[in-house]
Amino acid sequence: MKVMILLAILLIPAVTSYAQSELLPIIDMHVHCYDNESYFTSPDMYGTQSPENADAHLNQTYEMMKKYNIVKAVIFGSVNAVESWVLKDTDKRFIRGLMVFSPQELDTIQFENMIKEGKLEVFGEIGAVYAGYDLSDPEFEPYLKICERYDIPVAIHTGGGPPEISYVERFKNYRITLGDPFLIEDVLIKHPKLRIYLMHAGEVFYEHAVRLMFAYPQLYTDIAVLLWIHPLTKSYVVDFLKRAKEANVLDRVMFGSDQMIWPHAIEKSIEYLNSLNFLTEEDKKDIFYNNAIKFLKLNEKDITGDQKR
Ligand SMILES: [Zn+2]
Repeated sequence: MKVMILLAILLIPAVTSYAQSELLPIIDMHVHCYDNESYFTSPDMYGTQSPENADAHLNQTYEMMKKYNIVKAVIFGSVNAVESWVLKDTDKRFIRGLMVFSPQELDTIQFENMIKEGKLEVFGEIGAVYAGYDLSDPEFEPYLKICERYDIPVAIHTGGGPPEISYVERFKNYRITLGDPFLIEDVLIKHPKLRIYLMHAGEVFYEHAVRLMFAYPQLYTDIAVLLWIHPLTKSYVVDFLKRAKEANVLDRVMFGSDQMIWPHAIEKSIEYLNSLNFLTEEDKKDIFYNNAIKFLKLNEKDITGDQKR
């Protein structure tokens, strides 16, 4: 009898996880890029150090993308950082974003020109919380209008940031409360056609993110950073995903790593999402890939070859 049970256990196929088993494609909606000027090094919250320079950081991020079949990634950095990464993007994996904190860094004419020239495909990451803003501030309004006109997706940071950040002079206006997803509700009303995703799914305000997605069917989220950076955020993302499943909005949740200066965050994020047993394989396929295809409006031509990279 014992032998039979043992045999039965051995014959049960091992539960294989999404990316590792079949190497199905992944889209990372949240990748940070740097040039020599903007790159810096620091250990992550577990003490793992970042690569020594900007080149090593790009190479390690790219290797990680190849390893896990990340076929596309939205990249955020300065205009120069984004262009320097696109130049080295031999497989055409990158989608151009722009890292912005305050609307005062922007100029409407330049902004519109960048869109016309194809140099801005996603407006964000908008780290408004770090500059004392939220997206419904009238200063953002002209840029949102332009995005709506050209159908450019908007990526807004929601939730908090790292400990003690408000004591850094540059970020002294940072407030966690500015990361509440409810603060973008006026934007959704004013711009019903605007494509917008909440980065970090609201983090501490994850219930507000779910409620807002339930109310506004055009609204998407990424779950970047939550999947790896700290045990607290990992617990938020579990709660968020469970609630999103109950609300039936999981088909608008997208994978993101938010690797920042730590390429290993990509691996940690994929593995953590794969480990969540309350999600079905179909849920994971949608989060890793299908939902982003819909949100980014990628067509047949854009995704040809994604399955076999
Ligand atoms: Zn980010």
